[in-house]
Amino acid sequence: EEQALRQLEEFTFKPAATTDGFRVEMSANIGSPAEAKPALEQGAEGIGLYRTEFLFMNEAQMPSEEKQFEAYKQVVATMENRPVIIRTLDIGGDKELPYLSLPKEMNPFLGYRAIRLSLDQRELMVTQLRAILRASAYGKVKIMFPMIASLEEWRQAKAILAEVRDRLTKEGVDFDPSVEVGMMVEVPSTAILADQFAKEVDFFSIGTNDLVQYTLAVDRMNEKVGYLYDHLHPAVIHLVKKVIEASHREGKWTGMCGGMAGDPLAAPLLIGLGLDEWSMVAGSIKKVKQVISQVNHEECQKLLGEVLELSTTDDVRKRLEDFQKENN
Ligand code: PEP
Ligand code: MG
Repeated sequence: EEQALRQLEEFTFKPAATTDGFRVEMSANIGSPAEAKPALEQGAEGIGLYRTEFLFMNEAQMPSEEKQFEAYKQVVATMENRPVIIRTLDIGGDKELPYLSLPKEMNPFLGYRAIRLSLDQRELMVTQLRAILRASAYGKVKIMFPMIASLEEWRQAKAILAEVRDRLTKEGVDFDPSVEVGMMVEVPSTAILADQFAKEVDFFSIGTNDLVQYTLAVDRMNEKVGYLYDHLHPAVIHLVKKVIEASHREGKWTGMCGGMAGDPLAAPLLIGLGLDEWSMVAGSIKKVKQVISQVNHEECQKLLGEVLELSTTDDVRKRLEDFQKENN
């Protein structure tokens, strides 16, 4: 037991690579600047998802540009030139803002949420993008939009970003002009149209927490139907495959920042799929690195081929459990 724990610890700062040298990037999800240093200490090579909404939720009023800038800069500085993916405000659904007085909705997760709210509250979006771009002068920032469901939304978000960039340039304010801009894939419509999106984005990051909820029509907060909520559902796996392949055809990369990325059982499957960047709660990083170090890329691709033929979540889980035993 103790020896097993010690062995696990050893993976903290190792690169995530298979036995045949297939290398992937391991990042952490954070919700506040204070979590950046602990993430590094857990072996994170970057921040794959900085959930900025907590900065907004923990305040009595909208945080100013300056306040946001300081928070984003702190994360970027702590990460010392490692990639930091900052996600724009993902409010709505289960997350409320006291000072925005949003109307009660019948289906909050299908309603006024995330990018929909940001596109509608233009000033809020502009302020946040200014703060993020200013922080980009201090390290390696990437910008990510949540819950994009159509090309129109993506293009609107990009257009606002372009205006903000122009404005900062005119003001002589420093920012990184090569900042990558990507989007979360967490709505099935987006996964289905991944080929079209892939031509316009710099990267994708798959949010399985919402993608599972929307694909399977299972409320991620409702324990009563929790038994139906599973990222190993074949429909989810097929969507994930579609997204990764679409991005690679266009020379782009795909990350994953939903819970599936931190599931050791799913890791061989994600290796088989060629997932480029994995982002999870920092505490899971060493375990996933360990699992990856025990598998062979080609065998994972074979495993994927088998799994794609399976039609139930149970069958997928059993196959992955067998694979885990074979490789331990
Ligand atoms: C997701 O939906 O998978 C995700 C990472 O975003 P959040 O959990 O913040 O909705
Ligand atoms: Mg989400």
